[in-house]
Parts: sequence; C-alpha cells; structure tokens
Amino acid sequence: MRQVQSVVSESLAAAGYRGAFLPYRDLTQIVQAYEDLVRLNPGIQSVQDAVTFFRSHQPPDIPFEPLSFLVVAYPASPARIVLETESRRLAIPIPPTYLDDNPERQRLRELLEQAAQGCKTAPCRGISQKLLAVLSGLGQYGRNNICYVDGWGSYVNLKAFYTDIPCADKSYPVRFMDACQACDLCRRSCPTGAIGAQTAIDANRCLTLHNESGQPLPDWIPSDVHHALIGCLRCQAGCPQNQPLPDKDIQTLELGASESRDLLAADATELAPELALKLRAFGIPEFCIAQAARNARLVMGANRS
Ligand code: SF4
Ligand code: SF4
Repeated sequence: MRQVQSVVSESLAAAGYRGAFLPYRDLTQIVQAYEDLVRLNPGIQSVQDAVTFFRSHQPPDIPFEPLSFLVVAYPASPARIVLETESRRLAIPIPPTYLDDNPERQRLRELLEQAAQGCKTAPCRGISQKLLAVLSGLGQYGRNNICYVDGWGSYVNLKAFYTDIPCADKSYPVRFMDACQACDLCRRSCPTGAIGAQTAIDANRCLTLHNESGQPLPDWIPSDVHHALIGCLRCQAGCPQNQPLPDKDIQTLELGASESRDLLAADATELAPELALKLRAFGIPEFCIAQAARNARLVMGANRS
C-alpha cells in the first residue's frame, strides 16, 4: 500500500490545494520559534499574547496521538462591497481570507476523509497556521509577517490539522522571502507604522486589530487611512509578490441606494435584518457585520478628505 502521506499530498494537489506535512515532534521547533519571537520582539504585547495562547493549548485536546501536522493552502478570493450614495458609487474592499469559506472547508474535509484511509485528522488550534506553513515548507514569511505561497502570493487561506499520519522526518527553518531583502514597500505602505525593524509586526499598531474590534479607535490612527470594510490591505496590495486580480474576478456585492443609506446610518446593533442577511449570504462573517456600518462610515470619511 502506498504511503498515506503521498496519497493525501497527491489528492490535495489534484483538487487544486497544496499540502505539506510536518512531524509532530517538531513541536520543539515550534516552542523554539515562539521563544525566539519573544526574544527578538521585546515589548510587543501581541507576540507575548500569541505565546501565552500557544502554551495554554498544549498538549492539544484531541482524541488520538498526533504524529504529524498537515498544512493546506488554497487561493483566497478578494471581494468588495459597492455602495451607492447621492454623489457616487464607492467600492470598499474586503481583504482575502475574511469571507466565510464553508463550502471549501467541507470539500477539504471530505477529500481528507477519503484520502487519509482511516487515519485521523483534527483541526489544529493554538499554533499560528502561518508558522506551521513556513516550518512545513509550504510558504515563507514576508516582511509584513504574512505567509506567502509560491506562485499564489499572500492571498491564500491556510488550514492546519493534527493527524496520526506518519510523515517524512523533514522540516524547514523559519524563513523570509529572498525578495524582501531588497524591498520594503510594505513597510512604507503601512499607514500606522506597524511594520518596523523587528521580525514580527507590532499588531497593536496594526489597523486590522482596531477595526476588527468594537472598541473605539485610538486617537493616533489618522482618519484618512481607512479603506477596507474590515482589516487592511495596504501591505499586501502593493507587494510585488501578489498579482493584481482582473476586475471581473473580484467578488462584488452591490448595495442599492436605500441599502447603502441604511448601512451608513446604522449602529452595529441596529443593522436592518434584511441587510444583515444580505451581507451574511455574501459570506461576510458575523464579527465583520458587527463592524460593517462603522467601518463603511470611516471609509466614506477618508474618501471625503
Ligand atoms: S512588499 Fe516587498 S518587503 Fe514587503 S512582503 Fe512584499 S516583497 Fe517582501
Ligand atoms: S495590515 Fe495594514 S496596518 Fe497592518 S501591518 Fe499591514 S499595512 Fe500595516
């Protein structure tokens, strides 16, 4: 019988995914990577939080003895919502990876069930999926701390699993793309100075952290930097490793004049049920819907000034 690892990898590739295995015993390398993160990025609270979160999820609470990690990547579609206001139409991007990908997840689950030949898999939580992708050789970090997959750039979804599939004893060191050595476009494009000389970005200065949360935005964030319905695209959109997508391939949700008015006038708690339903049906997850009205107003404001 062919090795399960090969069967799974080939089945993933045939279905348009990329997958890579990492021996579970490389947890020691993961521990080391987290310790290095703390050492190299002193004073960055988000790094400390990630490490604390990791420690609280070890050992993993799964019903089998893990032998490997399996990391799977697939391209993620960007999207946008178009508002119609009295004076113009305004397209507001939604960065890739935010839209719900339930059908894709289901497809992946079914494929793994079939290919794994009775071996077990369980979603991996508590460890950075980007880190697992890099250690497995599936991707490399960019200066912006986002994981890049060869040929697909950073617009990818990553899913990691614990498995009891034995795998080759092979892993990679934490690597940054060679292209970043002679480039700092993302650092210069970052509107809040979150990308600095350190190896991790300062997540507390990242726009994403703040516009995903329902808390009031800190005063130090300039009012003209808002551009996305959720998160921020600046450090990925200008990266030469990402190919610009043809306009026709961008998933678009058009809101009519009255829906646009309702969105811009709403409080998080007051979004009209039909409008919330429409956003949900488009794949916008609940936590984004909760911030959609405020963030859309911020983008309108930034485009006015
Ligand atoms: S913009 Fe340049 S430095 Fe930043 S991730 Fe892309 S290639 Fe690397
Ligand atoms: S997502 Fe935006 S704010 Fe965060 S590091 Fe990238 S450019 Fe800076």
